[in-house]
Amino acid sequence: MCTTYLAYRIITELEQQGLAELLDYPWLIRLNPNIPAKTRGNGAVALHLRCKSNINKIKEIIIDKIEQLAVLEDEQTHPGVVFLEGNIPRELHEFYWKAVREVVSIEDAIRLCEQLGIEYYCWKLGRGIIGALAAVGAVLDDWTYELLVYRALKDGKRPRRISPLSVYRMDAATFPQTFDNIDYEHGTVLIAPRGPDPVLCGIRGEEPEVLQQAFALLEFHEPVEGWIIFRTNQATDHHLVRKQIKDVRQYDNVILVGRVASWPRVLPGGHVLFELEDGTGKIACIAYRETGKKFRKIVQALGPGDIVEVYGSVASYPGTVNLEKLKVLRLAKIYKEQNPRCPKCGARMHSLGKNKGFKCRNCGYTAKLEKERIELQREIAEGFYDVAPDARRHISKPVLRFGREKWLEHRRSTCSS
Ligand SMILES: [Zn+2]
Repeated sequence: MCTTYLAYRIITELEQQGLAELLDYPWLIRLNPNIPAKTRGNGAVALHLRCKSNINKIKEIIIDKIEQLAVLEDEQTHPGVVFLEGNIPRELHEFYWKAVREVVSIEDAIRLCEQLGIEYYCWKLGRGIIGALAAVGAVLDDWTYELLVYRALKDGKRPRRISPLSVYRMDAATFPQTFDNIDYEHGTVLIAPRGPDPVLCGIRGEEPEVLQQAFALLEFHEPVEGWIIFRTNQATDHHLVRKQIKDVRQYDNVILVGRVASWPRVLPGGHVLFELEDGTGKIACIAYRETGKKFRKIVQALGPGDIVEVYGSVASYPGTVNLEKLKVLRLAKIYKEQNPRCPKCGARMHSLGKNKGFKCRNCGYTAKLEKERIELQREIAEGFYDVAPDARRHISKPVLRFGREKWLEHRRSTCSS
């Protein structure tokens, strides 16, 4: 069962009973997407509540709902919940960055709860409290919103019935204020998840208002239980850390600047690989097939000496960065050597062996000439390149969001005042 749906049901219950009101949109927080022991979306939800009644009553309702809705038989489900009253301590903000960028153990989480006097409840392995703590401590210096719609019919096997045409119309009317609605390269609608969860669709965007407009443009051919808007760290790149190659570790999410050290190679399956070096070390960068034809074509067009900035994660193979984005900072001039043309007839000459000169097969002219150096026409331009949207992780920032960060708006308004 999806955590956001659980949150939706808890909020509905608390509001209907008049027990609490939300001080902000509920937060949907994504953690390090590389962790092996994670749930599918590796997300957690935080609710900021003003309690209008007995706090214990509210806690009881929340715990009841978890027990009622969490699918505890599921091997991957290890729910956890934490309750914190008052202000959010600095240690929780630090914990957020750790959970989103590194690996945190359940012991770290429990220790922090005990140190800060945070009430916590675990089911099974209780890994959920890691996400719960991180979500409470989340630092939203940049954020986006997601409007999630839930299906009334909980039979997960039924295909989702949303008019694709209405999704195209919605995208045309609201992009780029909403994004990742459609993967135009693969012709797929991205707002509807696959799989058995209760989510009918999710629309991602910059502001709550535009999400409501977008929602109104969609046509559903199945009953809807309800919808809710989350404030989220999705599409922020919060997981990425600038590093030097020598410091890259397994499960890291990194931004590296370096020089392309080899011609890219296409591997079986269509994945494209090249080596990157930065003076501290060398690392393989790979664009998996899933990243899309367009992106792989760009990666394939790189050449030795190009200066690039790579965005990606180090997962299953240590020492390999799985590309999430690529910025070509400077293209190298690459030359190709060619046999010279015959000065008499203009035909391409043939080498007579090393330092033995060239011979024209057309007219027989022989001479000691230099090879010609020709600058290679590059099939790539400097700039920022994204993977196909259906290959993008929740937390990865699409290229189109660069320059739209919320901290930038804040900085601008501070400057003008
Ligand atoms: Zn000739």
